[in-house]
Amino acid sequence: MMTQYEIVVGLETHIQLNTETKIFCSCKADSWGAEPNTNICPVCSGLPGVLPVLNAEAVQKAALLAAAMHAEINPVSYFDRKNYFYPDLPKGYQITQFDEPIGKGGYLDIHMPDGSTRRVHIHKLHLEEDAGKTKIEAGRRLVDFNRCGVPLVEMVTEPELHSGDEAAQYLTELRQLLRWIGVSEADMERGHLRCDANVSIREAGSTVLNTKTEIKNMNSIESVRQAITLEAQRQIAAVEAGERVESYTLDWDADTGTLRKMRSKETEADYRYFREPDLLPVKLSEEEIKYIKSIFVEPGEVTPPQPSHDLESKDISFGVSISKPTLTQIELPYNRKMRFIAEYQLSAYDADILTSERSLSDYFEEAVRLSSAAPKTVSNWMMNDLLRLMNDLGKSASELRLRPAELAEIIDMVESGKISPATGKALLKKVEESGQKPAEIVAAEGLGLIGDEDALRSQIQAVLSESPNEVASFRAGKESLLGWFVGQVMRRTGGKADPKRTRELLLEMLKK
Ligand code: ZN
Ligand code: MN
Repeated sequence: MMTQYEIVVGLETHIQLNTETKIFCSCKADSWGAEPNTNICPVCSGLPGVLPVLNAEAVQKAALLAAAMHAEINPVSYFDRKNYFYPDLPKGYQITQFDEPIGKGGYLDIHMPDGSTRRVHIHKLHLEEDAGKTKIEAGRRLVDFNRCGVPLVEMVTEPELHSGDEAAQYLTELRQLLRWIGVSEADMERGHLRCDANVSIREAGSTVLNTKTEIKNMNSIESVRQAITLEAQRQIAAVEAGERVESYTLDWDADTGTLRKMRSKETEADYRYFREPDLLPVKLSEEEIKYIKSIFVEPGEVTPPQPSHDLESKDISFGVSISKPTLTQIELPYNRKMRFIAEYQLSAYDADILTSERSLSDYFEEAVRLSSAAPKTVSNWMMNDLLRLMNDLGKSASELRLRPAELAEIIDMVESGKISPATGKALLKKVEESGQKPAEIVAAEGLGLIGDEDALRSQIQAVLSESPNEVASFRAGKESLLGWFVGQVMRRTGGKADPKRTRELLLEMLKK
């Protein structure tokens, strides 16, 4: 009998926080595309005689992420020095959190396409500074310190994922969450979200953890899925052939879709951790922790619609008394999706897409509130037309000039027969481009439907008089010509005839 294997995967992620400045100095945090070594200062380039100053925004965002991950927020956490030598680390140590990190425990529920849910626990969640980058050019190793000191949250899962697909789903939902709560751009290609995977296999039903390999340099979710799948297959083949899995570090090559052995892993390096003497402990008061936790509303607690705000540092003030008791509440993406299904009778598919980004879900709820149309109608407009417009323009919902109020106005004009659906669709773009109100454009361009029935009748009569052969054919039984007549009326009126009313009048007048 063939042995059944279970794949065991743990993910180590590094999340780049989207703070204004670096974690211990006032250099800009984001220097994507900048010339090497142009975004550095004595602190982040490790010159002697300087002192780090902790960035409160990084602490806020890390605490917010911890709360969103259902982790316990540590009232007192510490920074430590992790000592190692590498060219991209000018100080010779990384400032990180070791045994008393900001977050403890926590989990993320992931939702597989087959409808099953899996809870993935977090082993560790801590703040740290990023290192620089090195590259080899013309035989020389070059270093760029621009990234030194960029704030990161490192988050390690328990080995609870069991396939490349599950790992990919974890990262997909983590990325959505990071953007949703506004703590990271979470762009894997830009390294805002980095992931290493520990992969091992075991006999199904067993609970032992066998020797694992570590995969590095996967910079897309698809790469993570493929690399893990491939590595698990390789390990199974090795074990089936009577070999042992050795502890390797593997490098993913996205161009060829292959794994390359980087080095066999030696024993865990001795980093000689000790407390960072240049920084004070990070203290969060009970009130602050309560505040952070209360930002996330549980299912049933939310009264839609919610105001859309991004997390700003003024919303929470650490180390100072909290001056803003009003909360900017955040409903987590999956909870919101389930509420959209229950409350607005959306399909799971529509709800999934409308909650892919927080600004899009806010946009939808606001449009539903302002429109007299059914939520499903608003959803259709967004799924079919608004998303296409956003895609064409490369804009997110919050960047559109066409606000939910305008979308609701356009939908209502179509629903009440003031304008045709085609005019409504064209209006989306016109409002977006001009910034004018829909009703103004309709009035200025004379886009309203012919409301006067006599006027419509005379247009139809004109079409019938011009087409005696078609009228005869229709009356002889070729009823499929009705659509053609509607088209002729539309052409004659420049699309301003109400299609439904035109059809009714045509039938009445043709049957005479
Ligand atoms: Zn700096
Ligand atoms: Mn790390």
